[in-house]
Amino acid sequence: MKILVINCGSSSLKYQLIDSETEKAIAVGLCERIGIDGRLVHTPAGREKLVLEKVLPDHDAAVQAVLSALTDSGHGVIGSLAEIDAVGHRVVHGGERFTKSVVIDDDVLQAIRECNDLAPLHNPANLIGIDACRKLMPGVPMAAVFDTAFHQTMPKKAYTYALPYEYYEKYKIRRYGFHGTSHSYVSRRAAEVAGLDYGNSKIIVCHLGNGASVSAVLNGRSVDTSMGLTPLEGLIMGTRSGDIDPAIIEFISKKEQKSLDDIMTLLNKKSGVYGMSGVSSDFRDLEAAATGGNQHAKDATEVFVYRTAKYIGSYAAAMNGVDAVVFTAGLGENDKVIRERICGYLGYLGVTVDAERNNIRGKEAVITTDDSRVKALVIPTNEELAIARDTAALVSGLQ
Ligand code: AMP
Repeated sequence: MKILVINCGSSSLKYQLIDSETEKAIAVGLCERIGIDGRLVHTPAGREKLVLEKVLPDHDAAVQAVLSALTDSGHGVIGSLAEIDAVGHRVVHGGERFTKSVVIDDDVLQAIRECNDLAPLHNPANLIGIDACRKLMPGVPMAAVFDTAFHQTMPKKAYTYALPYEYYEKYKIRRYGFHGTSHSYVSRRAAEVAGLDYGNSKIIVCHLGNGASVSAVLNGRSVDTSMGLTPLEGLIMGTRSGDIDPAIIEFISKKEQKSLDDIMTLLNKKSGVYGMSGVSSDFRDLEAAATGGNQHAKDATEVFVYRTAKYIGSYAAAMNGVDAVVFTAGLGENDKVIRERICGYLGYLGVTVDAERNNIRGKEAVITTDDSRVKALVIPTNEELAIARDTAALVSGLQ
């Protein structure tokens, strides 16, 4: 089957056309600056990347541009749209309603809409992408794959905030967690690579990218994760603060005469390693600055490493042990120094990194010594493939 995977943001749309039999991407691409001016970057597998400056006034235009690129006689990869068997959409928030991926119908769309309050920046954009695809590909089955779904197995003790209970009852304020597609894919794959029985294993996944989260996966089910009601909780990220004392919000508001909106922007977009260092949200820039003697950049990476190590320790406690610690996403897959520094805090758990094995980028590997009691691994995430797999399985069930 050929599955088109769509990840729609407010002004961007990422896509991959994946062959579900070979599990290879036939084409990947990105529409940027939707509603501003517009740009399409389209890469057919094994061929030159194509950059098209194209006016993209809205998401309908972006989806149309993607479909034209895929079927183009020059740089296209399929003869006609009839070759697309199904579309898989990434949806950020599925609330408590969605515990797994589903085939999209009108009821599902309404239920996703009802989660908009929980993810006001993301879900409306995801819905716009779904609407645009339904309009331009009528009759093609579509699935929604949720970032929150994998974490719906968290027990109440892990998802409950110490707030008056009425806020959970009235507004469903609780911890949900995100990056679920990645945590699910990576934990399962790590068990295979490490030779563990997934159904009888204790795995901690560190998804360290611009957004970052840790999860505790016990016997194949998420039992805790560091993001909460929104992706702001937990680890320090590129520009997000992660955990802070909530009283800081009032303190800054009074001292700096800032509105709540201003402070939320500060915590989401101007904090994290970017805010701490004043240099960049990108660890490559931070490490270059630190090497050049920038103390703020050095401190920012140390605070990041320390927080991550503390979360790993708390999840080892939550599961009463750990078999494997797994690194994924941009930083986790590529930065051997950060991996080594995090593992430097984990000697008490029995993690011993092998410097040579850790000297890799972007490929699957065990990075600990043979006698390390707990294995550490690098597993590149592949959220698009996970979405394509779920979509293919759901659509096969329809036939
Ligand atoms: P992601 O959000 O998963 O795309 O990850 C993006 C982040 O990964 C960037 O902001 C960088 O901090 C980090 N990253 C990507 N490539 C490298 C690399 N080669 N070395 C260090 N950090 C990297």
